[in-house]
Amino acid sequence: MDLDLSSEQQEFQKMMRSFVDDAIRPHAESWDRDGELPMDAVAQMAGLGLFGLVFPEEYGGSGAELLTLCLAIEEIARVDSSLAITLEAAVGLGAMPILRFGTEGQKAKWLPSLAAGAALAGFGLTEPDGGSDAGATRTTARLGDDGRWVVNGSKAFITNSGTPITSFVTITAITGERDGRKEISAIIIPNGTPGFEIGRPYQKMGWHHSDTHELAFNDCRVPEENLLGARGEGFKNFLRILDDGRIAIAALAVGLAQGCVDESLSYVHGRSAFGRSIGTFQALQFKIADMALKTDLARQSFYRAAWLKEQGRSYRKEAAMAKLYASEIAVEVARDAVQIHGGYGYIEEFAVCRHYRDAKILEIGEGTSEIMRLLIARELGLPEG
Ligand SMILES: Cc1cc2nc3c(=O)[nH]c(=O)nc-3n(C[C@H](O)[C@H](O)[C@H](O)COP(=O)(O)OP(=O)(O)OC[C@H]3O[C@@H](n4cnc5c(N)ncnc54)[C@H](O)[C@@H]3O)c2cc1C
Repeated sequence: MDLDLSSEQQEFQKMMRSFVDDAIRPHAESWDRDGELPMDAVAQMAGLGLFGLVFPEEYGGSGAELLTLCLAIEEIARVDSSLAITLEAAVGLGAMPILRFGTEGQKAKWLPSLAAGAALAGFGLTEPDGGSDAGATRTTARLGDDGRWVVNGSKAFITNSGTPITSFVTITAITGERDGRKEISAIIIPNGTPGFEIGRPYQKMGWHHSDTHELAFNDCRVPEENLLGARGEGFKNFLRILDDGRIAIAALAVGLAQGCVDESLSYVHGRSAFGRSIGTFQALQFKIADMALKTDLARQSFYRAAWLKEQGRSYRKEAAMAKLYASEIAVEVARDAVQIHGGYGYIEEFAVCRHYRDAKILEIGEGTSEIMRLLIARELGLPEG
């Protein structure tokens, strides 16, 4: 396995780094304070083709590998996790289900605007009563006499569902019963459909300027052809989507951790205590060495998972391992970065303060750490409890 990035990927990474430094870094703190998705920044990211990176050229994408998207997410997350998750969710959760499971008609209808970043879409699996146990979905969709799906229920915490450019959310819903079990299907619900209500944005601990809403469906009617993938395959297909999403979340976690390493390195050079630079204290040097070590190992773990996927090999366990490890070290590294900054680490003007708040969700979203451990245990052949 070759761990070197290709020359195109190295150039892309360099371009991303200078874009992030010029267009995102100067504003990240105020965007976080305002708590609204900065649509100008989304448009700039769209202008760079970031939303279309992994989509085929026929839909306006550039046909790149998942690793290239991960590099973009990592670079953005070094500075701004809210924008990084906006990109990750837009591509991995919003658009990818259409590419993987959509009909030619659905792809032609939705993908070009999603790949251009002119539109965003949400992925509605979690419900107010449960996310880890996503198979316990309560939302229903029955085919009405007029041949349309009538959807009732609600979804919780849906990213990118209420932005000014959101065009639809794909949800899982019970569409019947099969062999005595719930039949769960995926259905596309365009924003603006009568009976589809988008709740107020959540007041979150972190990811302040990413867009997250609760969604309610009250006799919401959509055409039968809005079924995405085969009837009854919705739950299984959504879980497959999450395997790729976990590699991208690991990249986001690595970016955040790297941002904390960078900030800490620069801080210790400029701060003195007891007549010496704090960078000369071995206690802090060891802390930073450990932070860099964990970040590097986490990076290798998502590179490996992305590589396995590109080889067409099984990568479910490795994606879960990368997500689990990277998210947990991101929380540790962010906590240590705050410690290294002393009191200033607790002040919002210092990026590590925001990174610490932004890190926690990484252990929860797209499968909690507990669910990752369960998944890895299953992949190792251990029985269900
Ligand atoms: C900001 C944000 C954005 C999100 N974006 C989306 C989105 O776009 N789309 C979407 O569908 N969802 C989204 N989510 C939801 C997220 O994926 C869920 O919050 C997550 O999967 C956990 O589900 P839950 O909150 O219902 O917790 P629960 O499932 O209620 O879990 C509570 C606790 O119990 C533990 N637990 C549960 N089952 C087990 C078990 N079998 N063994 C051991 N421990 C267990 C969990 O690990 C956790 O610690 C988002 C959440 C947030 C906060």
